[in-house]
Amino acid sequence: MTNNILLIKTYITFNTNNIMRKKIVAANWKMNLTLEEGKKLVDGIIAGGAALSETKQVVIAPPYVHLTQTGTQLQGKAFMNLGAQNCYSEASGAYTGEISATMLASAGVQYVIIGHSERREYFKEDDMMLAKKTDQGLKNGLKVIFCCGEPLEIRDANTQNEYVGTQIKAGLFHLSVEELKNIVIAYEPIWAIGTGRTASSQQAQEMHAHIRCVIAAQYGAAAAADMSILYGGSCKPSNADELFACPDVDGGLIGGAALKADEFLGIIAAMVKA
Ligand code: PEP
Repeated sequence: MTNNILLIKTYITFNTNNIMRKKIVAANWKMNLTLEEGKKLVDGIIAGGAALSETKQVVIAPPYVHLTQTGTQLQGKAFMNLGAQNCYSEASGAYTGEISATMLASAGVQYVIIGHSERREYFKEDDMMLAKKTDQGLKNGLKVIFCCGEPLEIRDANTQNEYVGTQIKAGLFHLSVEELKNIVIAYEPIWAIGTGRTASSQQAQEMHAHIRCVIAAQYGAAAAADMSILYGGSCKPSNADELFACPDVDGGLIGGAALKADEFLGIIAAMVKA
């Protein structure tokens, strides 16, 4: 078993050199900003004129009520994508207050974040629900940013690899290898989200490499080498360079630092030069 994992790791590392998987910096605004504030922020980000490309992209995921406005602002801005922070697990019907993936797609949304730790914790979204939400996103042509990450007690017990591996298996392993192409994984250790405490680049690299091995064991090394794996948790311009320099870190999912144009642009710049 250990030998197999070692072989997979060597294969992935070897092949990573030839793979142009996407680097992405995604903004998760959470429940912040009025329409006017959101408009100004997006104007500021666009004015930054980041050197984006097919393999270096940005996603902005504002609250639902911003989607149309932000989408209009991003129209014609190459490689700047519109994202949503959530969708419901059913296609349509009597689910007052919920938003379907079909509605998101009809509003021009390209990415949807599923399984953020705040959704898991505060809204009790379990593995089965997250798998259904992922299916809804994919069925409607959205790319899914699937979040995983351990709480502090799991990190302290050094069982984070098993914990995150289980989240990925439960949320994604029912997908075909073809469907997996529209998945981005975001590793967000809960103890680093909004706390100012970032995972070290070594901790991030170790977990990202582990996630790639988990994917490789189920879907093969090529699918794993193709998978963009983002880091999230108190990422800011001052630590983005070091985090994004890790071979298995393909960008970031950004909360607090995505609410200020200059900080978000600093993180985008780190991704562009990584
Ligand atoms: C997040 O919630 O996805 C996140 C990474 O937040 P922050 O950057 O504020 O830690």
